[in-house]
Amino acid sequence: MEQLSENRLYARKIADTLFELLIKFNSSGEIGFANEVAYNVLMYNSMEETNIADIFPGMFMIEDGKFISREPADGRMISTNAYRSNNTCFESEIRILKDEGPAGGYILVGRDVSGRERMMRELKAAQNSGETLSKVKDEFVATVTHELRTPVNGILGNIKDLMSKEQDPDALYTMEMIEKSCADMNALINNILDFSKLEAGKFELEEREFSLHNMIDYVKRNHVNKIREKGLDFFVTVSPDIPDRLVGDELRLEQVLNNLLSNAAKFTTVGKIMLEVVTTARAGEKIELFFMVVDTGIGIADKDKDKLFKDFSQVDASISRKYGGTGLGLNISKKLVNLMGGDISVDSMPGKGSNFNFSVWLSVPRSEGDMFVDDFHVDPETIADRQMQNITADMSTTFGSAENREEIEKRIMKLTLCVEMDTWDKAEMFADAVKQLTIGAPKEVTTAALRLKMAVQKENREKTVESIEALRLLLV
Ligand code: ADP
Repeated sequence: MEQLSENRLYARKIADTLFELLIKFNSSGEIGFANEVAYNVLMYNSMEETNIADIFPGMFMIEDGKFISREPADGRMISTNAYRSNNTCFESEIRILKDEGPAGGYILVGRDVSGRERMMRELKAAQNSGETLSKVKDEFVATVTHELRTPVNGILGNIKDLMSKEQDPDALYTMEMIEKSCADMNALINNILDFSKLEAGKFELEEREFSLHNMIDYVKRNHVNKIREKGLDFFVTVSPDIPDRLVGDELRLEQVLNNLLSNAAKFTTVGKIMLEVVTTARAGEKIELFFMVVDTGIGIADKDKDKLFKDFSQVDASISRKYGGTGLGLNISKKLVNLMGGDISVDSMPGKGSNFNFSVWLSVPRSEGDMFVDDFHVDPETIADRQMQNITADMSTTFGSAENREEIEKRIMKLTLCVEMDTWDKAEMFADAVKQLTIGAPKEVTTAALRLKMAVQKENREKTVESIEALRLLLV
């Protein structure tokens, strides 16, 4: 080894503080200097007789007494095996540089990357086995759900057949129970399938043109009987400024609404259920719709609200015992709504009711000129609601007539209900309707209607109640 001058001693000290191994060698590969890391990592006591080709045989060799390097000394990172003095080896990354100092030769800087490489290999193996596992899981879920569907539909078909022939009420009741269990089982199978697809990110939404009018009508028909059977009122309101023809995934939108309405019906025993659709934004051909499903049911405590949209989550075990369900519906709804560019949330008060609301972005076909106003389904049972949404149609009612007074009172009642439910957007719509219905009235009445609207806009419950009273007094 070369004699060390003071400068070199200093350089050596610095070299010894490095985390990387550092070896200096001449153009014959003979090692002139190595730092402590190099000695330790390569397990050498002395390198006086060692050639760099002994340590990195994959990079350097001596052929016919001539030292050869496979790579130029340009500082590029090279991966190669490093051999210890005991002939064991490890994976390393090295750089070879020319020593620009007076002594000339080369400098090799390197590090042991065997730990990192091993980790990468283990990670890759874990990823592969994870991917295989998730593939197996997907296939398993798809097969099991498919296999389950066949016998369930078999039972369903046969039981329907039996029911059409059965006269005995007791037997019919039992059969109805079987039929309902089959329907529940089918719903559960569909939920599991959707859930696993959504989880795996394999869910694709359909983009098709559909009629909002028909979709809402279908959803309404789906739930109206069950809701009425429970003695509840059912109101459906669609803002007249929403185009009827839209482009999006009608079935999945329907699925979310069905889930929310089934829950509303399930958890409400007195009062009413309302479905309202309004538009909240429009950007080019895109339109944002905002759906609200409001009920006057058992409500949800603040502490439980966060749990609702998580997998298999029910507020507590007693809920599933009493009302059934798997706790998957809201989770799936949230995922679907997110896929449609929106979000879902809930406002609720225990004992008072809940307002589940969500937004989605849909497209409006270019040709769409017709609005929702006139072709909305006219069902005698919801004529009052239709009037509610189609405010302009009632504007002909002259202020002061019995009809006009009745219309105002109807809207005030609905407004009061919205205030109780904290659905201020909707309350504002009714306040607006009241204001419109008082056009042509004496100044004190129009001012009272305006005050009411302002109180509602400010979401001030006390002022709203006061304004309603004041208006009512003027109308008597
Ligand atoms: P499930 O299939 O159990 O109904 P969901 O995800 O649809 O699953 O609902 C999860 C839980 O959220 C319900 O079990 C219930 O505790 C609560 N919940 C949902 N909707 C309502 C509602 N309208 N009123 C009160 N609680 C509700």
